[in-house]
Amino acid sequence: MTKFEALGLNKALLNAVTDMGFESPSEVQEKAIPILLDSESDLVALAQTGTGKTAAFGFPLIQKLDHNSRTTQGLILSPTRELCLQITSEMQAYSKYVNGLSTVAIYGGASITEQARQIKRGAQIVVATPGRMKDMIGRGLVDISKIDYCVLDEADEMLNMGFYEDIKEILSNTPQDKSTWLFSATMPKEVATIAKKFMHNPIEITVGAKNAGTNNVQHEYYVVSGRDRYPALKRLADANPDIFSVVFCRTKRDTQRVAEKLIEDGYNAGALHGDLSQNQRDLVMNAFRKKQIQMLVATDVAARGIDVDDVTHVINYQLPDEIETYTHRSGRTGRAGKSGISMVIITKSELRKIRSIEKIIQQSFISKSIPTGIEICEIQLYHLASKIKDTKINKDVENYLPAINEVLEGIDRDELIKKIVSVEFTRFSNYYNKTKDLNSSSDHSSSATNASSNGSVRYFINVGEKDGYDWMSLKDFLRDTLGLGKEDIYKVDTKDSFSFFNTDEVHTESILSFFTDFKLEGRFINVEISKNPGGDGGGGRGRKGKSKRRGKERDKGNRGKRRDRGASKGGSNFSGKRRSKKNRSDFF
Ligand code: ADP
Ligand code: MG
Repeated sequence: MTKFEALGLNKALLNAVTDMGFESPSEVQEKAIPILLDSESDLVALAQTGTGKTAAFGFPLIQKLDHNSRTTQGLILSPTRELCLQITSEMQAYSKYVNGLSTVAIYGGASITEQARQIKRGAQIVVATPGRMKDMIGRGLVDISKIDYCVLDEADEMLNMGFYEDIKEILSNTPQDKSTWLFSATMPKEVATIAKKFMHNPIEITVGAKNAGTNNVQHEYYVVSGRDRYPALKRLADANPDIFSVVFCRTKRDTQRVAEKLIEDGYNAGALHGDLSQNQRDLVMNAFRKKQIQMLVATDVAARGIDVDDVTHVINYQLPDEIETYTHRSGRTGRAGKSGISMVIITKSELRKIRSIEKIIQQSFISKSIPTGIEICEIQLYHLASKIKDTKINKDVENYLPAINEVLEGIDRDELIKKIVSVEFTRFSNYYNKTKDLNSSSDHSSSATNASSNGSVRYFINVGEKDGYDWMSLKDFLRDTLGLGKEDIYKVDTKDSFSFFNTDEVHTESILSFFTDFKLEGRFINVEISKNPGGDGGGGRGRKGKSKRRGKERDKGNRGKRRDRGASKGGSNFSGKRRSKKNRSDFF
């Protein structure tokens, strides 16, 4: 007897399992399938993405349905059209040997009449996105009044995307005595509420650790004066050269305006809001998916359906009117097991809203400062160095090499590096050289001292995201490697091929000496004191200081068009061996 047989699956399903090449059930399948086959209980199952949840509800559903009846007996709700199609094709594969069983997909953006026709032919299983489902119920094109099973798949995502009301309405069209099976990667409060409201004594199974849902998203706020919002946004983008983000604005007008300004200033940006035609929206979304757009400026409504997994940052250009909406925004990042950052640009008067949001998300915000010009220059410099290292050599260059060598004769390697880097870097440095501190509520001076006034030191380290670190794992790595305590490493900021972090000054000496000769997987790990003071006047540990009136930064400037910033996948240090501290600071 195979392990699948032991779960109680019938012959038709076991044949499909063999065809699909599944050898043994996954944990969630092992736990859920026997329960669902043997009882009519409601079920809440928590398991991460990719753990085989579809088959965990799909197998029992197929086995329990009456395939001789054409009545719709099972409804599966799923958050996006892509998932809807994916589940449908999985269900069709599972039911390959079940005669007469039909699974139909219902989702937006495709012909509703065609979908209605398929339903009319008889579909025992309907897989639907909430929006289209509601629509079709309203028009009498689908009947779910006799279903026995309702599956809420990716429940956390559906709620994240604001489908609560739709789900409620859909469920009100289903019979009381059906069974409801809820599957979710995480269990935020909203999912618990659904379980409580719409389910009866559900059996709960959990695979792996329970996750509060937003743990992999770091929440940060930046206090600026109202008119500095836009320059602040630009700085946040400049300080994260590989940013892939959704920028939220409150109104369609602001959305359009901010996107236009960003484009004018040379960023790969695009707008997404309700005044655009469906066609325009599709174009923008396609460009975003392909990462041709790095900053997607969007309204809350328009961003609902965004199902892109790699979003690194959510930027709240303005807070939403309803603070509850914040959860939906921040849920656009930190998906599929990745970590993400949700940044909020606020004015001082909005600080109390941050406290209210903290209560909703049950997580604390970190108070951060808008990066100073020098910090941005430093980041851009390393980014540039990585880009040079990774640039593929163009063969045609070789023809000109003798002539080029002649021109560059007599310049030694160090000087040549400095010059090459300066070609692009000077533009940034000129732009940011004379800019002011944008932070409204901070006490740090913008002068570049190594240790800031509160005794905190910022470090540069030559490992980053391309080495597989995010801010969480790098923090863990540093803590474990250095044997420091939980709170000793903070403000960890990972970039593509390098990162920054802070410690209190007391640790500086031991950290620097520890890393003078430290190798990881055969590579020297380089840690140096960063030239910028550590950004955060608030120290990431609360707010303090008096408000200072800051000058307005020029919006447009002498920055040229930026090239494909996403293209650089960064090397770690451009000389191929360890840089000396002296050389590094020489660039400024
Ligand atoms: P989830 O919904 O939990 O994110 P899926 O149901 O989409 O996960 O399954 C992820 C992938 O794993 C799919 O390609 C699916 O075909 C495959 N899969 C599911 N169960 C098994 C199994 N028991 N053995 C091997 N592969 C499986
Ligand atoms: Mg799934």
